[in-house]
Amino acid sequence: RKRSEPKPEWLKAVPAEGENYLRLKNTVRKLKLATVCEEARCPNIGECWGGGKDGTATATIMIMGDTCTRGCSFCAVKTSRTPAPLDPLEPEHVAQAIAEWGLDYVVLTSVDRDDLVDQGSEHFAKTVRGLKARKPTLLVECLTPDFRGQASLVERVALSGLDVYAHNLETVERLQRRVRDHRAGYSQSLFVLEHAKKRAPKLLTKTSLMLGVGERPEDVRATLRDLRTAGVDVVTFGQYLRPTKRHMPVQAYITPAQFQAWQAEAEALNFKYVASGPLVRSSYKAGEFFLKGVLK
Ligand code: SF4
Ligand code: SF4
Repeated sequence: RKRSEPKPEWLKAVPAEGENYLRLKNTVRKLKLATVCEEARCPNIGECWGGGKDGTATATIMIMGDTCTRGCSFCAVKTSRTPAPLDPLEPEHVAQAIAEWGLDYVVLTSVDRDDLVDQGSEHFAKTVRGLKARKPTLLVECLTPDFRGQASLVERVALSGLDVYAHNLETVERLQRRVRDHRAGYSQSLFVLEHAKKRAPKLLTKTSLMLGVGERPEDVRATLRDLRTAGVDVVTFGQYLRPTKRHMPVQAYITPAQFQAWQAEAEALNFKYVASGPLVRSSYKAGEFFLKGVLK
């Protein structure tokens, strides 16, 4: 049997370790927060949690449980049609814990909850309100589901007091069905981003694309143009990595030079901020916007 190709050199990240990282890990355990940083074993954890050189500590917190109603072919999150009900106290608990942690920038994200009438939008909004009430200087990004493209649900989050509205398109139009759950879609996701901006023009809107899933350069170019038309401010590009053998295979390893070329193309289209690299994830150094003066 053909063995899978070894990963290229540039994808071999050094795992997080050391005193600073361990201290942060203990804090998170005490606060009982579920972080994507740990669950996805993100290679950037030391840099993000520790605040890196710039001192902007960032983390990505999962709300609404660990079980998703959808099943995208790239994603390692558990799936069920009937996940556990929401914990009504979670928004307050999470807001309290994050305020105590002392982060400068937080990304709130969630599984998709097609089982809930409001798709969890009020739960998201409540968490943001709780955070801003406790710590108004904290910058808050929500990486949201598509809320099935329902305008009123998108608005609820867009008007909750957050700073950055993120929703991932994940891939180009041609590959949506192969990559994402059948309930997701290209125009639906573009609508979410466009509508959030329309209702709250001061918000930054942001999306991420995974490369290496079979996209062609012209597909990516068309996607970037569509994102600008929808008023999207920030785009990030990263390499798709297969979480297990049951998931969709990697079609290509994109070289660091190619990532740089995408960075330049996107910047030429006037996105306010672009991050592009093999290990870039949607929330990678998200606090950098702040320092680069995009926010404020
Ligand atoms: Fe994973 Fe999100 Fe897809 Fe759910 S909707 S399977 S969490 S990518
Ligand atoms: Fe966490 Fe995102 Fe940073 Fe990874 S890139 S450590 S998921 S905040």
